Amino acid sequence: MGIYFEVIHKDIAGRVGKLKVGDKTIKTPALLPVVNPHLQIIPPSEMKKMGVEGIITNAYIFSKSEEYCDQALERGLHDVLDFDGLIMTDSGSFQMSVYGSVDITNEETISFQRDIGSDIWVPLDIPTHPDTDREEVIAQMQITMDRMREAKEIFGPDAPLSGPVQGAVFEDLRESAGRAVSEMEFAYCPVGAVVPLMESYRYRELVDVIIAAKKGLNPGACVHLFGAGHPSMFALAVALGCDVFDSAAYALYAKEGRYITPSGTLKLEEMSELPCACPVCRSHTADELRKSPDKQKLLAYHNLAVTMAEISRVRAAVQEGTLWELVDERCRAHPRLLDGYRRLLDRAAELEHLDRATKRRFFYRGSESCDRTEVKKYHEMIPRVKLAEVSLIDAGGPIPSRFAEVIGFKPPFGPVPYELAETFPVGPCEIPSWDEVMVAYGIKGLAALLATNPDTKVTISTTEKWAPQFRTAFPDCEVIV
Ligand SMILES: [Zn+2]
Repeated sequence: MGIYFEVIHKDIAGRVGKLKVGDKTIKTPALLPVVNPHLQIIPPSEMKKMGVEGIITNAYIFSKSEEYCDQALERGLHDVLDFDGLIMTDSGSFQMSVYGSVDITNEETISFQRDIGSDIWVPLDIPTHPDTDREEVIAQMQITMDRMREAKEIFGPDAPLSGPVQGAVFEDLRESAGRAVSEMEFAYCPVGAVVPLMESYRYRELVDVIIAAKKGLNPGACVHLFGAGHPSMFALAVALGCDVFDSAAYALYAKEGRYITPSGTLKLEEMSELPCACPVCRSHTADELRKSPDKQKLLAYHNLAVTMAEISRVRAAVQEGTLWELVDERCRAHPRLLDGYRRLLDRAAELEHLDRATKRRFFYRGSESCDRTEVKKYHEMIPRVKLAEVSLIDAGGPIPSRFAEVIGFKPPFGPVPYELAETFPVGPCEIPSWDEVMVAYGIKGLAALLATNPDTKVTISTTEKWAPQFRTAFPDCEVIV
């Protein structure tokens, strides 16, 4: 038993990996659809055919169900749900967050999860609402910690237990909760009680909360973002280092007649076309789907299919090293997501050490691209380059023959010495015609290089358009056009 997580590819703080629990292995990032035994809108065996490797269900519902409790204890969850992949169970914590309390103890819920054959168990943590007072957050965190310690003591170090990280919106508390969970050697760590943040589009705070939790957690821990099920935010959450998501959205949205797309949600009532490649959308017109007696089920199929496709897309982006570009694309779908993306960029310096050294390409997608980890990393590296006594910076102007050394200039990176010209990031970097922001960043890079080469006589060759910007930044350099 035990839970093992192996990282295979990295991009920003995101990872593609393998999560191993007992004899089950799933690819991450992964989406675990939420399955309610009483409302199986898509049977788990059919989900498997759609690429679902793991599901999550609620142990509390099973324990209270006259229909399913004994069945699950006798035959096991996998048999009852007819699913041979990974099954994670939640404790009664969700019910507690809705109803205030549950009539089950920590030990009881974990024993029950074990006895029904769940693959990943969740202790009875307290999902602290984001807007709780600090003192109350600390008190609730203490109870959660005690219960996790108790779980480890009773069920042993190898039990497939997850260690939830709470702490509301207090970054220091999230960080210390993450550290405590890692010290107790939990390898699978849900970041809990963030649904209220996502429901009210508080993506900026969500970014801070995840970064804080990750700071405390062991970097080898598998991180589950509890309750994040809309595909538009997967790229952002993965970029922050989340590995597993769970979603009831595919079913809940279907019930409300809402059609999920990777960039948002549409109302089926208002749609004239079904812009998707899944079998449901290709075999129905919008009108046929609206009138179908199976509307809810078909819509749930579509919703789950696009959700799974986005998880695949995110995994591919991490593997290819194009996650920044996918985050940029997805986060433009909603202004509040853009807020979250900008917050991620503000804090990119903290993630830079996690990012990989080389990638396939760098596509400039607007001024936000200037704050990417690769630009920061380049600006930190460039001062190590030694310049000759006399250097020309080729920023698009004439190149007189008197210069022995000519250094290129590629914004937003800045100076490009000959030996770096073919390497990542400046080599495989595609930029459109220059804009002011990118040139300003390039100038930052050049300033960093000139600061460590104070004795070099530098001439900058550029065009009329950009000469004033260079003259202002480098009053001691000759600028020719
Ligand atoms: Zn579809």
